[in-house]
Amino acid sequence: MSNSKDDHDHDHHHHHHHHHHAHPNGVCDCIPKWFIDNLGQVGLPYSKVEDYAVPPEESYGSLFLPDRIKNGYHIKELNDGVYWVSGGWYDCMFVCTGNGVIAVDAPPSLGERLLDAIASVTDEPVTHMVYSHWHADHVGAASMFGPNIKRIAHEKTAELLTRFPDKYRPVPTETFSKDATLDVNGVKLDLSYKGQNHSEGNIFIYAPKQKVLTAIDILAPGWVAFKDCDSSENITGWIDAHDQILDYDFDAIICGHVSRYGTREDVLTAREYTHDIIRFSREALLEVELEYFLKELGGTYKGAFRAAEENYFSAITNLVTKNVLEVTTSNGQRWAERLNGADVMTKNNAYTMIQKIRLEQSHNGYVQRDGHHPEGFFL
Ligand SMILES: [Zn+2]
Repeated sequence: MSNSKDDHDHDHHHHHHHHHHAHPNGVCDCIPKWFIDNLGQVGLPYSKVEDYAVPPEESYGSLFLPDRIKNGYHIKELNDGVYWVSGGWYDCMFVCTGNGVIAVDAPPSLGERLLDAIASVTDEPVTHMVYSHWHADHVGAASMFGPNIKRIAHEKTAELLTRFPDKYRPVPTETFSKDATLDVNGVKLDLSYKGQNHSEGNIFIYAPKQKVLTAIDILAPGWVAFKDCDSSENITGWIDAHDQILDYDFDAIICGHVSRYGTREDVLTAREYTHDIIRFSREALLEVELEYFLKELGGTYKGAFRAAEENYFSAITNLVTKNVLEVTTSNGQRWAERLNGADVMTKNNAYTMIQKIRLEQSHNGYVQRDGHHPEGFFL
């Protein structure tokens, strides 16, 4: 990915002479038309593979398993009829009851390969589906089970799918508001909504007998939470969800990403990473001074407040990122050695944390008439 501007110009000038070679998989060797890398400050930089720390092997999970690569999925029975299916980037759960299968989520990237996975272990039809939350990347293949199954979700999920219809995500047939138990042929799943976190209506799905928990898009075992704290809506709720997960008695947790199921240890690790970001964000909000950047504004640029604001938040984000990446964590390692992607994505998680602390949490007081403010106050 070292396409300089010169490469582009070269490619452009010789375009009509150049015969592009195609890979066996149909991907062109040439620089594609959509590849824009010369936007400078108004655009986003590209990462190089070498920018990343060597990923911890414990994070690989199903990613390089021959059966996943061959079939498009990897399947494992976690305990007594509860199965984990991984497509490599997305994963989900299903439960065999002896009288019908309960599918929990249906990621479109797995699609009909999930049907293959189910058929590889049982002849039972899918009779029920639980939606973890309304996001299309996790339930966007719900329609493939046909129109005659029961579809169970939180009432917020039904509200959102009614408001924003998608024929691939049929509106749930049964909803609940706080807690519910789904019992199919004596096999039980406890469903619980503890408030908005990653999204509205995102629920915990717990198989108490098998001690398997599904909690989607809160953490990713072995990997750092994807950019912007997994694009979560309510970060205070997302932070709390780590503790709510730990309140369950589980041996395995399915998180929706990336390529592994997890254990309590993975949740504790993700919680520690998250709390390091919180701690350093609070410190940086107190330490970094907006005035330093306001001084830059003068002359023609007197009114360019957005530039000072941008630099102010960049300064906070960089300070948090540096502190998080340099801290010695509880097992003596640094975060980039413990979580795949921590090095390059911490800046995105830090930025979101900083903004959401400002939006959702107390500023510890306010500016007084004389310009003073209480101790611990931040902008
Ligand atoms: Zn989601």
